[in-house]
Amino acid sequence: MKPIRTFLVLIISSVWITVSGQNNKEVHAMEKNDSMKVIKNDEEWKRLLTPMQYHVLRKKGTEYAFTGKYDHFYEPGQYVCAACGNLLFESDTKFNSGCGWPAFYDKTSSENIITRIDRSHGMVRTEVICAKCESHLGHVFEDGPPPTGLRYCINSAALKFIADHEKK
Ligand code: FE
Repeated sequence: MKPIRTFLVLIISSVWITVSGQNNKEVHAMEKNDSMKVIKNDEEWKRLLTPMQYHVLRKKGTEYAFTGKYDHFYEPGQYVCAACGNLLFESDTKFNSGCGWPAFYDKTSSENIITRIDRSHGMVRTEVICAKCESHLGHVFEDGPPPTGLRYCINSAALKFIADHEKK
């Protein structure tokens, strides 16, 4: 009987250690995500952003087609959030969709960009949002080129370009 009891104690202990370890990992992941967030009130955003950036990023606005500075812009580099600097897109995923806004076929990571169903203006679209500051960036459509078949249609005003040669 004794070896069986020892065996059972060992099994229960290892299960308990595994479960409590996972819980700790989840707590740390949550703390990390929360500390990553950039939270400001409306007045602070108004002070920090240009009127067009504020309209697009914080009020879910859309710049007029063919007016944004990155619509026909294909320099090598990275695009970060104009509100918080979070890395969003790489220039090698940018393509000319002809729609009048910068288009990308992929995002840098699911940690940096989140999506949400948008039922405004009588349409059902998928809104693209910065995961760090929750600013509106644009929408994603399923009519893009390979390999993803996606078209991230993003406002220039929501982006800031950092050229490869500017990086340290
Ligand atoms: Fe952001």
